Amino acid sequence: MSKSSKPWSKEELQAIVNLPTQLVVIIAADGTFDNIGPSGDTLLGWDLDLIYGQKIENFTHPDDYQQTISNIQSLLSGKSEVVKEFTNRCLTSDQTYRWISWTARAHDGRIFALGTDVTQKIEFEEELNIQALVLESITEGVIICNVPGKIVYINSAEENLFGYGPEELLGKQMQMLNALPPEESRIGLIDVFETIKQKGVWIGEWLNVKKNGTLFTTSCRVTNLDLNGERHLVIVQRDITELKARQQEQDELQNRFRIFFEQSILPMEIYDLEGNHLAVNQAWMDLFQVSHDEVFKFNILNNPSLEEMGILPYVRKAYAGEAQNVPAFYADLKKAGLKGRSRWVEAWMSPIQDEQKNIRELAVILKDVTESKETSEKLRQTIAEREVAETRLTMAVSAGRIGIWDWIPGTDKINWDSTLCEIYGFRPGEFSGRVSDFNELMLPSDRDHLWKMVDRAIHELKPYVIEYRVIRPDGKFRWVQESGMAFLEEDGMVRLMGTGIDITDKKLAVLDQEFLSEMSEVLTNSFNYLENLQKMANIATNYFCDGCLIDQLNPDGNIKRIVVASKDPGMKERMQRLHEQYPQRYSHDHPLFVALITGKTMVIPDVIDYSKSYRGKYSAKYLTELEEVKLGGAIVVRLKGKDSLLGTITFFSTVGSHIVLDARAKWLAEELAYRTSMSIENSLLYLHSQEAIKSRDEFLSIASHELKTPLTSLTLQNQMRKRQLDKDNVKGLDEKSLRKMIDADERQLRRINRLIDDMLDIARIRSDRLFIHKEKFEFCNFVTDVLERFTPQMQAVGCKLTVELCPEIIVYGDVYRIEQVVVNMLTNAMKYGAGKPIRIEVVSNPVKVSLMVHDQGPGIDAKDIERIFQRFERAVSGREISGLGLGLYISRQIVEQHDGAMFVTSKMGEGSTFIMELPLNHD
Ligand code: ADP
Repeated sequence: MSKSSKPWSKEELQAIVNLPTQLVVIIAADGTFDNIGPSGDTLLGWDLDLIYGQKIENFTHPDDYQQTISNIQSLLSGKSEVVKEFTNRCLTSDQTYRWISWTARAHDGRIFALGTDVTQKIEFEEELNIQALVLESITEGVIICNVPGKIVYINSAEENLFGYGPEELLGKQMQMLNALPPEESRIGLIDVFETIKQKGVWIGEWLNVKKNGTLFTTSCRVTNLDLNGERHLVIVQRDITELKARQQEQDELQNRFRIFFEQSILPMEIYDLEGNHLAVNQAWMDLFQVSHDEVFKFNILNNPSLEEMGILPYVRKAYAGEAQNVPAFYADLKKAGLKGRSRWVEAWMSPIQDEQKNIRELAVILKDVTESKETSEKLRQTIAEREVAETRLTMAVSAGRIGIWDWIPGTDKINWDSTLCEIYGFRPGEFSGRVSDFNELMLPSDRDHLWKMVDRAIHELKPYVIEYRVIRPDGKFRWVQESGMAFLEEDGMVRLMGTGIDITDKKLAVLDQEFLSEMSEVLTNSFNYLENLQKMANIATNYFCDGCLIDQLNPDGNIKRIVVASKDPGMKERMQRLHEQYPQRYSHDHPLFVALITGKTMVIPDVIDYSKSYRGKYSAKYLTELEEVKLGGAIVVRLKGKDSLLGTITFFSTVGSHIVLDARAKWLAEELAYRTSMSIENSLLYLHSQEAIKSRDEFLSIASHELKTPLTSLTLQNQMRKRQLDKDNVKGLDEKSLRKMIDADERQLRRINRLIDDMLDIARIRSDRLFIHKEKFEFCNFVTDVLERFTPQMQAVGCKLTVELCPEIIVYGDVYRIEQVVVNMLTNAMKYGAGKPIRIEVVSNPVKVSLMVHDQGPGIDAKDIERIFQRFERAVSGREISGLGLGLYISRQIVEQHDGAMFVTSKMGEGSTFIMELPLNHD
């Protein structure tokens, strides 16, 4: 207080003391109330008279008492400053306390104190403190302000946020923290109040300014707070500047990624965890030409085609978190059930993980490799084809055994590769390469031709191909096909290069075919088969062997040499002589008979060696002579017709010749044997048919003669009778002569009948219609009956007949047909027996009965023995004795149909015995 100021008047002082909000108190030194202003009654409700003299402790809150007393005492003692300010709680008349803020000073041993009721303020602050305790622990910034915007509370997080020190913002206007211009800020605030009013809370972002002027954004949550009855706002704030920046960054990134994904030229797709398509980019759709709708039908995990394509394991691994590099595969859309085009692709599969490393999606980037795949496929094919071609060539060269040579004309060094050496019969490197040595190998007749070709090739620089024959050092003969080409070297020199192929087999195959067809022609050349065979043997001899023999098998089982051919005429003659001197008799191990019987082609590499095994079996002389012939090897092949063995054909080589009787020779021998057999058989058939035609012609003339004879006689008889009748000379026709005539006619008619019967039988036999009707009959009685009927004829020709019969014997057969046989036997005996006695004999044993008819006729030549049983065959020629040559043929057929046999034994000049054997039936 300034000394110059006017002192308070008593009234003025009284007026201050009477202020209703101020409490004026004077405290005595003993701590009792000495005086108290009237507001003591107003503020605390006390009857002032009661308070005087009372100790202040009775009116002070126990918790505040100590502090109050110490303040009073310190003032009284004059130790402290003159003025003390403190706050304590004073008791009111209704036993509550009110907060009083005191300003006190000591004067004359008393305390003069002025108190203001601050209860409301203190209570507000207390309430605020409780909130602050909570709010302080929050990491977010918190400000509490009243409605006019004064900050009443701010937590340390908020102070830090704005960059202010402790308490620097308390009591300040909220406005200072807002970065928006005042007008905007005001409008914003109105919105805040409105929203809170409606929803109880406002949530949003504020743009703030820090103490240092930096702007930053916070996310805010503003709510109402009632503090001590007064409305306040609680603002909870969090700095989201960084978050926003990050968010923005992320947004930008996402945007960039979206653009990258959509615009990338690499086809990309993203799948969810279930394998469904989440997204594909344009490049992907362009690649597969799949419509947008189709795309989302696809599921990478459920598609069986993926397994087929071999992709599934990669997909699984990628879903398991392992990025995959999938080698090129054919994305077959049809198999995947999609409409679009299939492509060859490579793929990178990458699992997309969140921050916690959880797999969220699967990203797949594809690379269209169709073109390169197709190109590489084409390339691969081309390479493969080339490899095949090369392999083929190598194979062809080695399998085709193509030899290669080269030669610089004028030099004496021909280079051959190992194959060519082999072709010419040399070991690799063995050939000298000298032109003269090469010439040596070639057949002289081919040599000139080759060199002419070579000369032309050198002069015209043209390729040539030539075939020539060579004799190899081992003596083997080969055909070589040589291809050559001349070309100019850089230095102007001419070089010849070429190949050589052994074409012997091919050549021989062609020649062999030509040879065989020539042989076929030769063998069918004329009807004189012996001539044909000889010609064939001569040609074969010049072609593949040194000589050839053909031995024919005669019906008597002997071998007859019908053809001998040899390059050496002397040898030919010796071979023929050898056969004649030592005709081959049957021997089971003689090669001729082995071949003949077994049909096996006998290949004898060394005849001399082979013949040694004959020692002891054949005469030493024969063997010595055989050795002298100097046979090398031999191949013996059987000659066989359809139903008969014809003989053998032998091809031989001579000692020291180049001929090799190898597999080819054997094949040729067999082919020739086959053709020869056909030729012989055809010739024999021809001869037989010629003979048959001859017999038939003879038969026809005989048959007509045979028929004519009785017919002529009947005609003559008839004419004679007619003439007699015409002359009315019937006297000559008395009974006796009539009977004679009738008998004679009957004989002639019988003869005609017999002839016709025979001819009919032949027809029946030929068509298998000679039926046999069997019955049981006693054979000796049957023979006796036939003989009886025959006796007159026998007597007529003056033939004596003796009969020897066996005891009774039953035969099962066709009586009529067997009688026909017996009659034929008797007729022939009578006919050819020259009137000499005939003996009939019947013998039997348990299995058969034999009827023998012995005559003493001219006998039958051995060569005719079988022939006479054939059709139209007669041993006697012409018309010496009448007959058709059918009787024996028919008889044998009948007997054979009874399972019997019919044959003849005879000797020329000593008669014949015809025998009929019939089996006995014991049933
Ligand atoms: P044919 O007697 O009618 O000629 P065959 O078939 O009965 O006919 O006889 C065939 C041939 O057999 C006769 O032509 C004859 O040459 C000969 N032949 C038959 N029987 C005898 C015989 N007993 N003695 C001699 N030759 C016979």
